[in-house]
Amino acid sequence: MAGDASRMRKPVIAGNWKMYKTQHEARDFFAAFKPLVAAATHCEIVVAPPFTAIAACVEAAKGSTIGIAAQDVYWANEGAFTGEVSPRMLVEAGCRAVIIAHSERRQLFGETDESANRKVKAALAAGLTPILCVGETLAEREAGNTQKVLEKQFRGSLAALTPAEFSRIIMAYEPVWAIGTGRTATPEIAAEAHKFLRGLAANSFTAEYAASLRILYGGSVKPENIKGLMAQAEIDGALVGGASLDAAQFAAIVNY
Ligand code: PEP
Repeated sequence: MAGDASRMRKPVIAGNWKMYKTQHEARDFFAAFKPLVAAATHCEIVVAPPFTAIAACVEAAKGSTIGIAAQDVYWANEGAFTGEVSPRMLVEAGCRAVIIAHSERRQLFGETDESANRKVKAALAAGLTPILCVGETLAEREAGNTQKVLEKQFRGSLAALTPAEFSRIIMAYEPVWAIGTGRTATPEIAAEAHKFLRGLAANSFTAEYAASLRILYGGSVKPENIKGLMAQAEIDGALVGGASLDAAQFAAIVNY
């Protein structure tokens, strides 16, 4: 972990379990994972289980610093919105954070920058930390449109936020072509995108808040590639899908 002492932003290593793990499986995971990361003070650790396992994870994480996050949220506090879960329900369940606009939500469930923006604002109002995901598809990258896409997602998802609100979010750069494909962006490609996003933050908010914004990389992060990614000053942590399901693998990523 050379160089960590000089990091001005505390890294975040977050696991996105997607639609995996029952409550029982979640408890087993924590029993194995907690001792493996007990000494990890160099980063914040977050686990985002499916809604049904949130309470079990909050209980299982007690006595550790591991934060529990949800994978999505709706923007209203309550109402006739069948199938949805509100920010204050997540807070009551013990969540500290919520992933918003994951590319699977964008691609499979109709998430837009506008709906992401409403969710970010509602999450902030409830005291949750939004982990906002952005990222281009392979076709968009190959057409040379990466920056255009990132800018559109950034501006749309963070529209009308005050600088103070912006200072409470975490971003995740997740190139769609690297998610679940085994194909990782090189540390240099990821760092370039992060730098671009930080520049947008400086333009839209303040240089100070841009400098403190934590931008996580996501896309086939594994124990074998985390060190190289974290060696980039622009990369402030990782959002990990597949490899976060296994306690030993996720702990190896946390303890990079
Ligand atoms: C993710 O789900 O956010 C992700 C990056 O998945 P994977 O690590 O499996 O590519």
